[in-house]
Parts: sequence; structure tokens; C-alpha cells
Amino acid sequence: MLSDRHIKFPMASHITSRRLLLVAAGMSLLGGASACKGPWSGGDGVAAAPEGRTEVLATETPGAPVPSATSSPTPSPVPPSAAASATPSAAGTSGVQPVRKALSDAESKPVYELDPAQRVVALTIDDGPDPRYTPQVLALLQQHGIRATFFLIGENAVEHPALVREIADRGHHIANHTWTHPDLRHMSESAVRDELERTSDLLQRTTGRLPTWFRAPGGDFSPVSLRVAADLGLRNMSWTVDPRDWSRPGTSAIIDTVLKEVRPGSIVLNHDGGGDRSQTVAALKTYLPVLIDSGYLFTAPPN
Ligand SMILES: [Zn+2]
Repeated sequence: MLSDRHIKFPMASHITSRRLLLVAAGMSLLGGASACKGPWSGGDGVAAAPEGRTEVLATETPGAPVPSATSSPTPSPVPPSAAASATPSAAGTSGVQPVRKALSDAESKPVYELDPAQRVVALTIDDGPDPRYTPQVLALLQQHGIRATFFLIGENAVEHPALVREIADRGHHIANHTWTHPDLRHMSESAVRDELERTSDLLQRTTGRLPTWFRAPGGDFSPVSLRVAADLGLRNMSWTVDPRDWSRPGTSAIIDTVLKEVRPGSIVLNHDGGGDRSQTVAALKTYLPVLIDSGYLFTAPPN
């Protein structure tokens, strides 16, 4: 049904992960961003983010925000979205309201993988936020200088707005994963629209940013959901690697699946909500450094 698994993204965009250099025994990490064409634009007019973004990340400081591009020493211009991320509450009052933009047919197709010519991985974290596991995932991402995409469920987000803002403030991408996590395939267009629109509205009110990416629960996009998403300016992201961490197959099974199946351009699916995600957290702790040491750069869409 949805067979286009090799959508390419010709326009420069935003690669934000970096090799890690162990600077000193004090465990300061220097992140050097890679400059290459990015996988996210796809003709949507998103301006290229500064590729020279360099961040100095202090480890072992849970709770401290990752220094974002706003505090970066990079001489490149700070993307407006990154600036907004530092002051999410101001974004909604500054008069700069994000504008919904209906998508083209090409932009409406789900993205299953990124450009395999680039050694990039997109880490996606679904079903949160969750006060037990999201902070642990955020700490790991900060430790390794990784930007990820969080597909948030509206009814979780409304319960934990501070956590939503923390995810955004740390520079991660906030995306729409419906309000109640239903199977969209047999729902009416108005019901689907309500699920998506309500969630986008909440996330915009909470972070100051209108979501631009959507993932259907279970990856089950439908013709109706694709139409509604396009109408709401939401691009559709699926995944390449699914370790089925939600089923709690064991930490080693999650690690093995990710490391066995990952390849350049993979979109990896993990979960920080919807149940006990301690196996996911433990797996991330192991496989993230392995992927970094293998030369993978982590990417997320521009904010
Ligand atoms: Zn989900």
C-alpha cells in the first residue's frame, strides 16, 4: 500500500549529531556536527540549519539543559526554531505564529528511511511523555550529544506539560502521535482530524512550535490519515528498524535487533511511554555508544 521506501531528500537541512571526543577525565564531551546535505527538507521550504553547530556537552548533569544552538560558539546563524526552543513561552506571544501549510503529494508520503548514502540514523521515541522513563532517555541523549524525535501522545502530553517543554528545550524535535493512540485505519475523517489537530494544537500551546511531523499509531497510516495530515501540514514518518521494545523482548534482544538491522539512513523506533520501558532505557545505554563509535551521526528534523 505504502511502498515508497526510498524517498530521497535533496535539500540541505539539519544534521545535528556528532562524533564524540573524550576531552578529559572530567568527561566533557565535544560534539562536532557534520556538514553535509540533510535528509529532512523534501522540498518543504525549510531553511537549512547551520551545519557548523558545535556543542560542548557536560555529562552527568541530569536536569541541566543541553546547551543548544543558542549558546553554541558556532559562528553560524542560530535557527529561529532553536532560539524559540530556549523560550518556548515567548514564541506564542512574539507575534511569530507558526503557520500550517498544506503539503504536496510527494511530501505527504510516509518516510520509511533517510538517504542511505549518508551515515545517519534518526532515533525516534514514541508514546510519551512518561515521567518515569522520558527523563532517563533525555539524560542519555544529553550524555551522548544526540538529538532525537519524540512522537508524543496528546493525552500524555496534557498530563505532563513540563516534560514536553523539557524535551523541546533540550533541542529535540516534538512530533504528533495522535491524542489517544487509536488505530486510525477504520476511523472517520472527522475523528482522525480531531486526533491529529487536537494534539498539534496542544503541542503548539505547550512548546510554541507547531508540529510538522506525524506518526500513525502502529505505523498504520491510512488514506484518510494521510489526507488529514497533509491538510494539517504534517509529514508522515514511519521507521526502518523496529526492535519491538514495547513488547519487552529483553534488553539484549532490543540491542541485537538495532545493531543487526541498522544501516545508513535508518529510522529507529523506540518507546519511552505506554508501560515499563526500563529495557528500552537499558538498551539505549548500550547501543547508542556503539552506533556513535561506528561513525553514525544522529539526525532529527529541524524544529
Ligand atoms: Zn505509538
